Amino acid sequence: MNKVVYENDHDLSVINSLTELYNAAKDCARCGLRAGCSGVVFGEGNPEARLMLIGEGPGADEDRLGRPFVGKAGQLLDKILAAIGLERFAHAYIANVVKCRPPGNRAPGPNEADSCLPWLYRQIELVSPRIIVLLGSTALQNLIDPDARITVMRGKWLVSKSGIMIMPTYHPAALLRDTSKKRPVWEDFQQVRDEYLKV
Ligand code: SF4
Repeated sequence: MNKVVYENDHDLSVINSLTELYNAAKDCARCGLRAGCSGVVFGEGNPEARLMLIGEGPGADEDRLGRPFVGKAGQLLDKILAAIGLERFAHAYIANVVKCRPPGNRAPGPNEADSCLPWLYRQIELVSPRIIVLLGSTALQNLIDPDARITVMRGKWLVSKSGIMIMPTYHPAALLRDTSKKRPVWEDFQQVRDEYLKV
């Protein structure tokens, strides 16, 4: 198992609840993405979940509804969770690397991700999950290593400095484009289920 670190170079530590953090984030305009979207898609789920899922950023459906993972990829994610006996509102908290929709569904740029990550880091601290699943290369590269490749890292447990177990896997949108990724994702989530059940 590799030791990994994600940096927390911000000062949102004075904010002590997800509601307070949401109220601060909803008016954020730290990067240019805010100008082109409908609003901040903060995150949702059980604020005390043992499992946190982190994706890339809102798409068109998420932007319209103000909720993460509600389009086709989100529906697939719900099915994957159901297959391991979990449900997003009961057992997980879901968020993204960036909280505003990048135009044309492109990946967020490094400056956009850097601007937004303090919100996510504080979400992680407040939820305090035991397990984080990184969905896709944007989450992997921004939280773990900018040079990491999801094809190499998926399916292998990492651990944060504070002891959070981290599983990188493919983003559900990648499964919709390439069905050959279904089996590896299924295997990765079986590992997540086994780890989840240890507590
Ligand atoms: S993407 Fe993040 S940093 Fe950029 S404006 Fe939206 S909330 Fe703020």
